[in-house]
Amino acid sequence: MARILIVGAGPAGAGLALALVRQGQGQVELVEAAPDALGRFRGEGLMPSGLEALERLGVWPLPPSVPHRPLAGWSFALEGRPLFAVDEPFDAGPACHLVDQPALLRHLLEQAQAAGCRLQLGAAVVGLLRQRGRVSGVELADGRRLAADLVVACDGRSSTLRRLASLPLEEEEEAGLRVLWFRLSGPAAGVIAAELGGRFLTVIGGGDSWALFASARGGLQLGWLDRADGDAGAPPATPGAWRERWASAAPSALASLLRELEEPAIEGPLRLAVKVGLAPRWQAPGVLLLGDAAHPLSPLRAQGLNMALRDAVVAAERLRPVLATSEAAAIDAAAASVTALRLPELQAVQRDQRREAARAERLRREGWLRVLLSALAPWAGPVIAHRWVREQDRLRQGFPLP
Ligand SMILES: Cc1cc2nc3c(=O)[nH]c(=O)nc-3n(C[C@H](O)[C@H](O)[C@H](O)COP(=O)(O)OP(=O)(O)OC[C@H]3O[C@@H](n4cnc5c(N)ncnc54)[C@H](O)[C@@H]3O)c2cc1C
Repeated sequence: MARILIVGAGPAGAGLALALVRQGQGQVELVEAAPDALGRFRGEGLMPSGLEALERLGVWPLPPSVPHRPLAGWSFALEGRPLFAVDEPFDAGPACHLVDQPALLRHLLEQAQAAGCRLQLGAAVVGLLRQRGRVSGVELADGRRLAADLVVACDGRSSTLRRLASLPLEEEEEAGLRVLWFRLSGPAAGVIAAELGGRFLTVIGGGDSWALFASARGGLQLGWLDRADGDAGAPPATPGAWRERWASAAPSALASLLRELEEPAIEGPLRLAVKVGLAPRWQAPGVLLLGDAAHPLSPLRAQGLNMALRDAVVAAERLRPVLATSEAAAIDAAAASVTALRLPELQAVQRDQRREAARAERLRREGWLRVLLSALAPWAGPVIAHRWVREQDRLRQGFPLP
């Protein structure tokens, strides 16, 4: 029986662990560096493509212990005016959802453990073991060695295992782009949530770009794009200055509400550096990369969790026939086929994200275009909305899962 060692208990690792143990073949062990893997920030947006993956993992619909809700729609504001709004779902399929990530991960891990997966928290992998040129296990920071027939690296965008396995990442030029993340609470946040009406709002104005939504677990989340070029001026230094900066770009009703936020109700910012890239090869003898380790994604239009869960589903399907054996060649061939199956979707998603990012960046930089479009919003808005909806299909649905 094959021993599969998964490194990293994010959505890729937790999803794969559950899918493999549910198949009832092989021994599955999951090691996670953080003493509590669930606390790390991971966003909340799940597209229909991610919901399909949860369904294939047997956990959709989610239980009430995992806070989640359908997104009512998307709205965009430009230079302080609404540009367009679109309702969810766009078609007969499910709506995008906001899902509390710590609760979702806890649920996946509990289900995986109940089905026989061994989980070790606070166990950081620092080295790969090799036998006759093939990866045969890992070394932990405390010196322990764990043997495996296949090591699956789900250790995130700065993956140590990707480097140790010499699997190169082709990185995109996103140097200096950071997301500053805020949590807003208190009575004013409740009124703002009602004003948003369950939608995800994107605001572009005065050279700034940020997004706001009501979190699945209550309160609001605000993500502010911070570019190192600083041509929109330095980020504010105090909660009061942040509040004013957001209000200056928001439509008037929202701006008044933002100015009512109490300073202690503004938590953050948490600074998250954006890294975007794609490994052309996800597999080397004895090791397979999945999730952000194979393809760190832009946070734009919520793709990373979805792609990580879909990687897990496909990898489990491909590995199923070989888990009853521990024959290295068969395991490596199954692992190699995962890259071939997943690359086209990842390439397409990254292309679509680049297109959206380029448009948003043009609007952010070109003040005349923002002013023109916002003045024409009553006429231009519906046309832009129609085109935008058409272009979202792949980012929402992905490719058909094998
Ligand atoms: C600001 C921001 C907002 C986002 N919003 C969304 C969103 O709304 N929707 C969406 O789909 N995606 C979103 N994402 C992307 C999403 O968070 C990631 O794509 C997703 O978490 C990747 O999952 P993963 O399992 O591959 O890696 P991760 O979630 O990064 O998990 C990797 C795990 O590996 C562990 N680890 C690392 N090194 C080691 C080691 N050496 N040994 C053992 N364990 C190790 C880490 O502790 C971690 O728990 C967002 C990302 C950012 C930065």
